[in-house]
Amino acid sequence: MPGWSLIRGTKKLRRWRTLAILAVAVGASAPAGAHADTIVLKNGRRIVGDSVTREYGKVSCETPAGRISISESLVLRIEKDDLPVAVYPPPNTSAANLAIAPPPPDEHPGMEPVAREAVHDGAIDRAALARFEAAAASGSSEAVKRAVAAHSAAADFSFARGDLTAALAQSERALALDPGQVPLLLNVAYLRLRGGEYAGALDLLDRARRAAPDSADAAKLAGWADYGLNRLPQAVAEWKRAQQLRPDAEVAKALAKAQQDLEVESNYLEGESAHFVLRYNGTAAPELARAVLLVLEDDFQSIAQNLEFAPREPIAVILYTSQAFGDITRAPSWVGALNDGRIRIPVQGLDSVTPELARVLKHELTHSFVAEKTHGRCPVWLQEGLAQWMEGKRSGDSAAALVALYDRHDDLSLTLLEGTWMSLPGEVVGQAYAWSLAIVEAMEASGPADIERLLERVAVEVTPEGALRSSQHLDYSEVTRATAEYLRSTYLRRP
Ligand SMILES: [Zn+2]
Repeated sequence: MPGWSLIRGTKKLRRWRTLAILAVAVGASAPAGAHADTIVLKNGRRIVGDSVTREYGKVSCETPAGRISISESLVLRIEKDDLPVAVYPPPNTSAANLAIAPPPPDEHPGMEPVAREAVHDGAIDRAALARFEAAAASGSSEAVKRAVAAHSAAADFSFARGDLTAALAQSERALALDPGQVPLLLNVAYLRLRGGEYAGALDLLDRARRAAPDSADAAKLAGWADYGLNRLPQAVAEWKRAQQLRPDAEVAKALAKAQQDLEVESNYLEGESAHFVLRYNGTAAPELARAVLLVLEDDFQSIAQNLEFAPREPIAVILYTSQAFGDITRAPSWVGALNDGRIRIPVQGLDSVTPELARVLKHELTHSFVAEKTHGRCPVWLQEGLAQWMEGKRSGDSAAALVALYDRHDDLSLTLLEGTWMSLPGEVVGQAYAWSLAIVEAMEASGPADIERLLERVAVEVTPEGALRSSQHLDYSEVTRATAEYLRSTYLRRP
């Protein structure tokens, strides 16, 4: 059940100049002074929103993240409240992590000296940025241009290192200084999309489009946002429009994928819960769909607790009959289910959630969490190790074989297991899964906080091994040795 690798996104971090801004922090805005109701779900979760309605078996309400709908079957009660609206978790979500490159760079002619002041000797010069900001506060348009160029250079530097969080912060500063500039709007929207913040990105793209209605880049990115929000017809329309404005190979690929999904799902039924949109073939039992949603909501809570993190926008889950699954995924035959930003699961012949299906659901859902937490930068060995660990697998059965391989220096290198596994020979795949699980299991045994720190570093470090070094002070060979020791002491009898 790999698959994450199918969509891990471009590895080459293209040189990216410039960016920009953002006046408003998305997600910070609850409608002040409005009155809130609380929808209490059977699983204990509480959703605060207003304009609660109840129709066609769904309870809907308005939240800062947009209007959401929940199946009535999941709702315990609705509490009316006259207090001002509190907070709802900010928007964001499960990365529909398409391989889409950043929009073209924004040029800052004549600003090279500014860029050199902002970034030099392999680091961002914060004092220099503060000086440009202070000068911009005077209001001179030249000073503002320099400050924008300085923040853009800093964003560029962070992006090239793979630190999307820092790149976004710098880009937003630049946009705040020059809020109407289209390249800056596109760049911030792009970074938000990479982080799974589809709704927030759409707002920025709307602003960009008001200024530049025929921007192919705006249509391309808007299609991505719609796809991430599971709005397939809108995504297809945007990407078709982008192709008319300026044909583009990345858009062609994304469009083909969305059209195929749309065709297969056109007569699918849809179910919805607090964190999921579920589509399934009419031949699958509706009871199965409902049961799958309940299991997923439980898994959502437990994974969120474990990783101290939760995706912010609904995750798409598609249940296929086996035939449709093979047609749509074109994955190697050893792939059982798949997560490419949407969780795709074959359920031929099932009418209830079997223990095996429950494991698959939790496994694939873990991939969604990890991908979003790491901005799609998680190495496959860590993704698969964590997904197996979360689904409940442990290394007992494979411990002896793994230790023997290690002792013969025949263990798989973690570097090899960072990228896609789709081209690994079938017999090696089993070993890759077993080894990945053992590594995560050993880390969990030494302290669950290690994994959380590691995921945080994976999101910002240049390489996965660098993330391991900065979070656990270990390199690959040391982690491998520690794992072999763990397997030996936990599962093998000592001589
Ligand atoms: Zn997997």
